[in-house]
Amino acid sequence: MLNIVLFGPPGAGKGTQAVKLVDNYNLVHLSTGDIFRANIKGETELGKLAKSYMDKGNLVPDQVTISMLEAEVDKNPTANGFIFDGFPRTTPQAKALDKFLASKNTTISIMLALDVPNKELVKRLLERGKDSGRADDLDENIIANRIKVYNEQTAVVAEFYANQNKFEKIHGVGSIDEIFIRLCKAIDNKYKKV
Ligand code: ADP
Repeated sequence: MLNIVLFGPPGAGKGTQAVKLVDNYNLVHLSTGDIFRANIKGETELGKLAKSYMDKGNLVPDQVTISMLEAEVDKNPTANGFIFDGFPRTTPQAKALDKFLASKNTTISIMLALDVPNKELVKRLLERGKDSGRADDLDENIIANRIKVYNEQTAVVAEFYANQNKFEKIHGVGSIDEIFIRLCKAIDNKYKKV
């Protein structure tokens, strides 16, 4: 299996690149943000809970997020591999994912970390907020909090994978296709294409 963690701050372009990687490597895309948003739209209990955190730009509690993610993996027993987008976002999530994948005799192959300067992130998120309808992209204070939460709670997850020799930093500024080629090169250098 080819299991990729697509990493980077809010606005780094994870969602955009995930769609292209899924297509190229025949993977299942699991975006925790998208799954939470689908639950909010469907007015589920999970959606109501997640919304109360997401509206402020805070993280949804680990246990809720981990259980949801594991259930999504289990819905795809024949997958070739997964792209985890927006997960893991804390060290406990990373540890839980390692344990869960090990129980299925598989592991994370590589973490691809999109590197984008802060100023560019805020610009991209405000731009996206104009037509995405995402409340958390429309307010500069919420954006600032998401970047703060990323720096305080999420950035350390990179070290978790660096310690396993799985961390690859990718320059995240340029055209969508340029960045995609950089990501593919990093994957193909480390692993044969599946
Ligand atoms: P972005 O990367 O632009 O912040 P996402 O769609 O990945 O957008 O996430 C939106 C929000 O969903 C986050 O701000 C957070 O509240 C919640 N969320 C997504 N993934 C996780 C996660 N792994 N753990 C906790 N909360 C999460």
